[in-house]
Amino acid sequence: MTLPNSSPSYLASKNLHVYSHHALIGHKLALLRDRRTQPARFGQLLKELALMLLSHATAELPVREAPVITPVGPTTERVLAKRVGFAPILRAGAGMIPAAQDLVPGAPIWYLGLYRDEETLQPVRYYDKLQGYPPIDIALILDPMLATGGSASLAASRLKEKGVEKVIFVGLIAASEGLALLAREHPDVEVHVAAVDERLNGRGYIVPGLGDAGDRQNATGLNDPTDDPFVPEQG
Ligand code: URA
Repeated sequence: MTLPNSSPSYLASKNLHVYSHHALIGHKLALLRDRRTQPARFGQLLKELALMLLSHATAELPVREAPVITPVGPTTERVLAKRVGFAPILRAGAGMIPAAQDLVPGAPIWYLGLYRDEETLQPVRYYDKLQGYPPIDIALILDPMLATGGSASLAASRLKEKGVEKVIFVGLIAASEGLALLAREHPDVEVHVAAVDERLNGRGYIVPGLGDAGDRQNATGLNDPTDDPFVPEQG
């Protein structure tokens, strides 16, 4: 990302990775943003984008040398040196789990149920059962939208409380407000997103964004398109 000199420091942070220059990520993001994209296609695109973003976000994970014997002879290869897990923020982050499981099969999934209070826009924790889980060293938070940053910041605090050494946020679209909050409260957290959008509206939605990422993948938005033309109309 090329930035004007007057850009806020969080946009120039070495911890922020924005992949809007990537042709295929841009193309898929356009399809995902389009208001005509129906839930099943939305879910598929979310998985495809999550795969690509997670692949970038995991490129620099710590590795160690391990001996391998191929059918032809011995060699050494670099393998992951730390225990990696995923922390999807419910509900929208659930759509990124299949990609995470394809990339790191068997990695622990720590579900975090957080919703945003409509009035205060503050995150509220409603599901969090991390007690007694085997430890992980590196956790990747999965949430398509980094809007106010409140949920991501609360998730990062919770993961650190549980002994996670390194937290990485992976999402589709971030708003400057969310990036600023996360940089302020957790300057060590790496952020990997497909795009940084203009701003938040009064309801805390990213503009232009893609709408409600939870509704769009779960067919729960009243004004969103449906996949099935034969679903009876209301009433
Ligand atoms: N969550 C969403 O699903 N969309 C937004 O624009 C902001 C938060």
